[in-house]
Amino acid sequence: QRTQSDTTENNHQDFEEEEVQDGTDEKKLTPQEQRLTLPAYQHRSSLLKIINENQVSIIIGQTGSGKTTQLPQIIYESLQESHSSNPTSIKMIGITQPRRVAATSIAKRVAEETSTTLGSLVGYAVRFEDETSKDTKIKYMTDGILLREMAQDPDLSKYSHIIMDEAHERSLNTDILLGLLRLLLSKGRPDLKLIITSATMDQGKFTRFFGDAPVYIIPGRTFPVTVKYADYCCDDYVESAVKEVMKVHLANDVEAGDILVFMTGQEDIETCCQLIQEKIDLLNRDVNDDEYRVKPLDILPIYSSLPPEQQALIFKPRRYGHRKCIIATNIAETSLTVDGITYVIDCGFAKLKVYNASIGLESLAITPISAANAKQRAGRAGRTAPGTCIKLYTESAEESEMYQATIPEIQRTNLSNTLLLLKSLGIDDILTFPFLDPPPRQSIITSLYELWSLGALDNFGGLTKLGRKMTSFPLTPPLSKLLLLSSQRGCSEEMVIIVSMLSLPSPYLRPTQRQKEADLAREKFQVPESDHLSLLNVYQTWLSKKRSVQWCRLNFLNHRTLIKAEEIKVQLEQIMNSARLSLNSIGSDWSVLRECIAASFYHQSATLSPSSRSTYLHNLTGLELKLHPTSSLYDMASMPKFIVYHELLLTTKQFVSGVTAVNGEWLVKYGQVYFDEKRKDTGVLNGNKERLEKEIERDSVLYEERKANEEIERK
Ligand code: ADP
Ligand code: MG
Repeated sequence: QRTQSDTTENNHQDFEEEEVQDGTDEKKLTPQEQRLTLPAYQHRSSLLKIINENQVSIIIGQTGSGKTTQLPQIIYESLQESHSSNPTSIKMIGITQPRRVAATSIAKRVAEETSTTLGSLVGYAVRFEDETSKDTKIKYMTDGILLREMAQDPDLSKYSHIIMDEAHERSLNTDILLGLLRLLLSKGRPDLKLIITSATMDQGKFTRFFGDAPVYIIPGRTFPVTVKYADYCCDDYVESAVKEVMKVHLANDVEAGDILVFMTGQEDIETCCQLIQEKIDLLNRDVNDDEYRVKPLDILPIYSSLPPEQQALIFKPRRYGHRKCIIATNIAETSLTVDGITYVIDCGFAKLKVYNASIGLESLAITPISAANAKQRAGRAGRTAPGTCIKLYTESAEESEMYQATIPEIQRTNLSNTLLLLKSLGIDDILTFPFLDPPPRQSIITSLYELWSLGALDNFGGLTKLGRKMTSFPLTPPLSKLLLLSSQRGCSEEMVIIVSMLSLPSPYLRPTQRQKEADLAREKFQVPESDHLSLLNVYQTWLSKKRSVQWCRLNFLNHRTLIKAEEIKVQLEQIMNSARLSLNSIGSDWSVLRECIAASFYHQSATLSPSSRSTYLHNLTGLELKLHPTSSLYDMASMPKFIVYHELLLTTKQFVSGVTAVNGEWLVKYGQVYFDEKRKDTGVLNGNKERLEKEIERDSVLYEERKANEEIERK
């Protein structure tokens, strides 16, 4: 009998430790045997033919057909044959992924399939983590990593093949890489092979972009999926999802298959897991006869910041008499495939980056998914048997309110990072760059403006010395600026820690049954005027406790996150050293740190609203902002007048997190160009609500226009 443990985290570890033989499987296939059954493997000779005969090929195959795991192996095996006399001359095969979870988890799988240890033949690289060696021939990586490699080695001379996986996702980095590779293939590397894979059939755009590149469609079969729509719009999709999970679980034998629930992110996933567990516990209360207890349900979350061992649990085969219920972000839409799912519950939303270029406002927003996403999600129910997809939205909402396809990231994001990188590659005239879909002109202008105001570009749009130094960091321009500035101001040792911590998920744990205790523990570390400084405090205290795991547990801190922060810190320090940036400690005068933060993040600053004691008004837009309840500044007796924030989340309210109190003079001093010249109309440190309202109205007009255009394209 499983024991009920007190934290969600421990619950999942229980599952890992307790191995129960699955009585239903007569014989389990090993990973090496399993791969032979995948469509991509079975069609390997046709795949190799098209890859060998063309410089660019486009490969379409439904999710789970083996594109990501098999293509690199098939290519490698054929290279081994053709290079049998000189195996050391085999170059690398690079596979890019838009998501880091996919890169790491699939590399592990392929290492198993090839019976090698991870990091030898098969490896991966994601930001701040490199699991490759000189023996690595199959390298999985995020698209961001390959982009940065191109900045070092524009010819990609170490690679013979590049597989751009999940191209249908249209991530910003993938789009930029496609443009750069098109330039490279025609000039520096006529021998480089490019393979573009996609899980959807909209290959037309890619084909045209690469001058009628050939397309191969991996044959495969799917099973019918019955779709059930909601009768009316639900108020709370988490609650509705929980209800549907319970209905499915109670009404169907566990042999009928597993459940996959699509949520938007860590927060709603955790709530969902917790509520389902509570429902089951409630039903089982006082029931001692096993026959009348609810059949066991293994509740398995998956999202990008979940520790890898817990991520791996979703792939474990179903235990005898149990049902798996996986609660996922859109990572499970096409990047990761779990076999045995026959029920999909789709909340209809995803967390997306959005950017309003006219006012330079970037945020994460819970947004309705597109019809294409909805179709992919439903399809996950019919991979191994006929299935059911329960949608928590109405049919008319799907028809009238969803875009046909998600807007490519390049058209809804701040481009300052990308533009800086392109500038460093010598691509000065962004307007002539071969974009699959060009970014809006306004985004280019606003992003260039941001770079100029940070001092990365000169008045002629050329890269400054500072700008060039900024490109050495795998960080966004404001964070790079923060490090550079801190080095000048003698506080870089502390700032490197802050930046490392900001690059990771929150170190504070908040187990469901012990939230009060956890909140009290967190308060002990909070520096009242700053979440950034609180993070520094956590890290330094951890060091002073000799990195004790026990101490972390007592204080509700994630030990792994702190270890990771230290690794990132070491890497950033190495970059600082090679860029000859001095590393100094400021000691206890932490106000200098806050001044540096103000100097790099003035574009994300806000002023306390005169009419409310807890609301802030965004300085450039007048947008009303609420502090996230986990912030050190939340509920302070006297709220500071000015703040800067690290992240903005749009849900029903606008929440800011990673907040630091700053002096108004700092904002005026460092953000002068922002507040005075260009933004004359908004005035210094003055909200401008009307302007924002106009912008929001413009956005909805744009939305209508896009929908109308889609309509025309469809006809
Ligand atoms: P595609 O890229 O075409 O969507 P993949 O190559 O990712 O397909 O997956 C092929 C198969 O390998 C799927 O059946 C999937 O379940 C399985 N697979 C992938 N990763 C793992 C893993 N970590 N553990 C077990 N099975 C896996
Ligand atoms: Mg794949």
